[in-house]
Amino acid sequence: MLQVYTGTGKGKTTAALGVALRASGYGMKTLMLSFLKDDPEYGEARAAKNLPWFTLRQVGRDAFVNFHNPDPVDLKMCRDGWEEAKEAISSHAADVIILDELNIVLATQMLPTQEVVDFLREHKNNVEVITTGRGAPEELIKIADLVTDMSEVKHYFHKGISSRNGIDH
Ligand code: ATP
Ligand code: MG
Repeated sequence: MLQVYTGTGKGKTTAALGVALRASGYGMKTLMLSFLKDDPEYGEARAAKNLPWFTLRQVGRDAFVNFHNPDPVDLKMCRDGWEEAKEAISSHAADVIILDELNIVLATQMLPTQEVVDFLREHKNNVEVITTGRGAPEELIKIADLVTDMSEVKHYFHKGISSRNGIDH
């Protein structure tokens, strides 16, 4: 099925990782493609080294993405990441495939929503696909089997507490 975790509250990526943990209990494998990211210090990147059932590919780069005027390098990385995602979904490379931050990639038009939605609609029966990120476009929501909108009620960020190791990244 196709699941979409969106909204401005914390918990989208970690909810997807929770599914990966649960699935592993049934011998299922997870592949996570992280768009817009390349940072080996992320907890999930560190953990992947010790988890045979979890593969992480960070398909972005370690730089700030300007969503208003994306660098051609970032656009190319999104395109290459999406080609890799299509291949993984078509070939059932894992039982659960997490496309982390794909929602924001679509919301900011770094990939054409219609193309992505058409592919996911046709292939979502192959494997469990989870997309995360703020601002999931309406077209994606329409074809999803499950959509959760995380809403922020409180976040310690507003108290000046920044990203914490193992909790936020
Ligand atoms: P997480 O990876 O913790 O599940 P997320 O995937 O829901 O978070 P993202 O939009 O991917 O959220 O942002 C990731 C980072 O931004 C995390 O460090 C997270 O704590 C932080 N963050 C998420 N939501 C908020 C918010 N509403 N205000 C401030 N920081 C946030
Ligand atoms: Mg996230």
